Amino acid sequence: MPIPLHAIADDNQSAPADMKQTTPLFVRNGHCVSCGRAAERRTLVCPYCGERVWHPGIWHVTRWCILLAPAPLMLGAAALLTATPGWHGLYRNMCSAPLAATWLAACALGLLALPADTDGSATGAKDALRRQQLEALFGGAIQALCAVTGAVLLTAIPQPSLLSLLVGLPLLSCAALMPLVFRIPWLRLAAAVALAAAVVASIL
Ligand SMILES: [Zn+2]
Repeated sequence: MPIPLHAIADDNQSAPADMKQTTPLFVRNGHCVSCGRAAERRTLVCPYCGERVWHPGIWHVTRWCILLAPAPLMLGAAALLTATPGWHGLYRNMCSAPLAATWLAACALGLLALPADTDGSATGAKDALRRQQLEALFGGAIQALCAVTGAVLLTAIPQPSLLSLLVGLPLLSCAALMPLVFRIPWLRLAAAVALAAAVVASIL
């Protein structure tokens, strides 16, 4: 594990003794590189001192992949679904959805629209809380879109091909991994799964 330069204790003689004691020599995953406190889940900047929060390289790679992958994957899924079964076929399936699936989808959409719970948040600034809410709201929406598109693609195509698997499975993986690298509440993953299940029940 690489040790960030910031993690090495500052040997400044003017620093107070108690501050030098709390400065960590080694930084753990998800901890501030300066003050060593555990940062909020998936945050990039320490809410206490504004310093960078340390995450392993794989965490940053996963975050960037999940940021960039959904758009081309969804375009690929749209192209595959346009070819077969076509949007008219999908629309007919949605119109003939069973009542239970409609109810499940309505509950899931309600859950996705709820604001994230920030009562226990260490972030005090209103701007930071607003960013956290936006991340949860838009992140949750993209997560649900990935889950639904992946599920539709794998269910609606009569004979799944290698290409549909190569597009559908990464979309489902993106949806599942999103709460690990973004501040998206786990409840939103449950809502995305419920929404995908409702759509699959409508198609089958
Ligand atoms: Zn800090």
